[in-house]
Amino acid sequence: MEESKELQIQEKKVPHLVILPIPFQGHVNPMLQLANLLHSKGFSITVIHTNFHSPNPSNFPNFHFEFIADGLSDGKIWTEDPISAVYVLNDSCQEPFRDCLSRLLSDGPHGPVTCIITDVAFYCTEDVADQLKVPRILLGTSSASCVATMLSLKVLQQNGLISISDGEPNTLIPEIPPLRIKDIPDMGTADPETCERIGVGIHNAMRSALGYIMNTFDGLESTELAKFRQEIHPMPLFEVGPLYKFSPGSSNSILTQDYSCMAWLDKQAPQTVIYISFGSSGSFNEKDVVEIAWGLANSDQPFLWVLRPGSIHGHDLVKLPEGFEEKTRERGQIVKWAPQQEVLAHPSVGGYWTHNGWNSTLEGICEGVPMLCSPYLWDQNLNARYVSHVWKVGIQLENGFDRSEIEWAIRRLMVEIEGKEMRERVSALKENAMRCMAKGGSSYESLESLVDLIMSL
Ligand code: UDP
Repeated sequence: MEESKELQIQEKKVPHLVILPIPFQGHVNPMLQLANLLHSKGFSITVIHTNFHSPNPSNFPNFHFEFIADGLSDGKIWTEDPISAVYVLNDSCQEPFRDCLSRLLSDGPHGPVTCIITDVAFYCTEDVADQLKVPRILLGTSSASCVATMLSLKVLQQNGLISISDGEPNTLIPEIPPLRIKDIPDMGTADPETCERIGVGIHNAMRSALGYIMNTFDGLESTELAKFRQEIHPMPLFEVGPLYKFSPGSSNSILTQDYSCMAWLDKQAPQTVIYISFGSSGSFNEKDVVEIAWGLANSDQPFLWVLRPGSIHGHDLVKLPEGFEEKTRERGQIVKWAPQQEVLAHPSVGGYWTHNGWNSTLEGICEGVPMLCSPYLWDQNLNARYVSHVWKVGIQLENGFDRSEIEWAIRRLMVEIEGKEMRERVSALKENAMRCMAKGGSSYESLESLVDLIMSL
């Protein structure tokens, strides 16, 4: 930021931002990264967080924390049904949020609230912010491709041009290539009424928002960003990604990251290791895990595999097939949770097998690592399709988990010419990200415009 703008902030009173993330890993991380970035620009930050998945405030000494009740503490395993959890959160948090914001407005430790930044999925905040007359900006944590696709789909469905509910999953949708029916964002186990209510809530909550922030960059999604910008005009769109690069180390890891794998990575040859992680909420049946294990073992490639406790249906402890450990001891590491951004940036990592959550996809791209894709929920299918068929930096496993297909795909990615070409393409995207973040680049400038908007309030 130019010096004069910093001076302006100092001369004005320090703007006070209140942020409200959705308490799931893929939502909390970009929100805290954004908050950290805005703090570095001179703003004071209050985080209103649910008790569910609450971060430890001592890890964020620059922020003031307030905690609110959330309706998620009844023992249900919400990580397996995040869509229903979003609905419950909106239902339960509105009044606690209202009380908390009112208190901050009357006697908060950081003076008047300049603006709130909420996750776009926290649609219950619209009513509260409007009533209390606090400006509100949204953070969307999906890709621009996802949002643009949802818009196109809505128009096609409204005009009766498309019906996806009864089509064969592999059917291409000619109006939105290269997507197939199965690539359309999918709400998992949540019931259709809940999904409908969430969709309406989000749509309505966009009405009075002052702006929309996205964790992506123009050098990756220029067409989709242009489309979304046109759709929400005159509301400004700020694409400020990749946030984790602007604001390293500011994530809130819900599980403890095991750094011991970094020393192991140091001992491996450059670009030989495949890193495997399916995010914070994916879970598998026993048979899948057996197929993954033998696929990895038979590929003969070094691997670092994140196996979260509780990620195998019906088992608290992870049990791997007999003979697997013996066969892979020399070249495999398993951890419960990894420092993923550091792992992907490590020179020995040459491939990434992912579930294609948006943060993970962005991290793979911005570290220049080609991917194997095994999506299972919400926007992951669409992200995987973009990775394999638009950016052409990965291979999607289309038939679930089958050891021979896995073995073959790992080889294609790690040793064949096809993988080398993908690595070249993803390295070019990584360069684009760096250019967008540099002074004068689109993300840099977008961030400046966001700061200007907040300062004008
Ligand atoms: N992550 C991590 N350690 C792991 C696996 C994932 O720190 O072992 C982080 C990862 O860097 C990313 C986030 O968890 O920022 C996952 O977000 P994403 O949107 O990709 O997926 P979700 O977990 O929400 O499905």
